[in-house]
Amino acid sequence: MPSGDRGGTLGPVSFRPGALDGIQTSPTGGQVEYLLARNSVIREFRKGRLSRLDVCDAHPELIRAATNLGRTMGEQCPICEESDLVDVTFVFGSKLPAGGRCVATQAELARFWRRKEPVVCYVVEVCCGCRWNHLARMYPAGAGVDAVARKPLRSRTKA
Ligand SMILES: [Zn+2]
Repeated sequence: MPSGDRGGTLGPVSFRPGALDGIQTSPTGGQVEYLLARNSVIREFRKGRLSRLDVCDAHPELIRAATNLGRTMGEQCPICEESDLVDVTFVFGSKLPAGGRCVATQAELARFWRRKEPVVCYVVEVCCGCRWNHLARMYPAGAGVDAVARKPLRSRTKA
């Protein structure tokens, strides 16, 4: 019923999580894994084993979300090295669209963190230039989880 919500929903996406029962409680470990996976994709691309078609496959909806709602990461795209990366946060949980809700503002994200129901936040980095995209991290929030990633969306810079 709340139809004029900010944000939007996403069609079929590759990073859609499975059941929410197994909410991950060690987001830090997950983040490292995503970073490793990302770096290995980039390595393979640089070696020529993956083409741009393989790695720059962002769903049009994801590009749209990134264009409208993405937050600049202050980092250049590792693939085209021309555009800046943005990150987009999707929240999954009960009463949310199956494809996740794309979070528009930090204030909206904070509201999800305060929810009584658990949610899982997925942060995807996207290049609107070449359509590179990769899951950057995910973390549980809501339901009294004291979100480890309560810090800003761009905590990767200190890594
Ligand atoms: Zn790019």
